[in-house]
Amino acid sequence: KEPTDINALADEYLRLAYHGLRAKDKSFNAELITDFDEHIGKVNMIPQDMGRVILNLITNAFYAVNEKKQKDTDFKPIVSVSTKSLGNHISISVSDNGDGIPEKVKEKIFQPFFTTKPTGQGTGLGLSMSYDIVTKGHGGELQVETEESEGTTFKINLRIHD
Ligand code: ADP
Ligand code: MG
Repeated sequence: KEPTDINALADEYLRLAYHGLRAKDKSFNAELITDFDEHIGKVNMIPQDMGRVILNLITNAFYAVNEKKQKDTDFKPIVSVSTKSLGNHISISVSDNGDGIPEKVKEKIFQPFFTTKPTGQGTGLGLSMSYDIVTKGHGGELQVETEESEGTTFKINLRIHD
């Protein structure tokens, strides 16, 4: 683990994912919202691993809003990333205004190889790997809040003194 500028890491991956998607699909557009806590300082973590988690959450968020956009051309996709310092905890949240996750699907999303995406578009390993990195690798929590047709928020909680 090493002291990591989590705001810079999250911002970099958000832009990387967005530009990667737009390079493949010029018509795709999304509003990116960031709300980074400037008082967060550097947080001890394995930056490559936590970067992978953040990238996976962001990639899933873009996928969700892109799907909704295909069905409704008037839909305005929004993907937000925020960080917050809360005493001895920090949190990193990734939100989208996609279609949300139905209850039946939500029960399975952290299982390895579970995917609702067509063959070739998802391995179903992103969230199970993310869960392991956050919990086993960093002693943290990975939470999901979702509302059907409203969107989804994934939140990483980490203790900062260990
Ligand atoms: P993959 O992206 O390869 O499908 P993941 O483990 O990253 O695998 O995600 C598992 C499943 O969880 C997805 O197939 C999808 O059904 C659901 N999911 C994850 N993130 C979101 C999201 N932001 N909005 C809606 N569904 C999601
Ligand atoms: Mg994924």
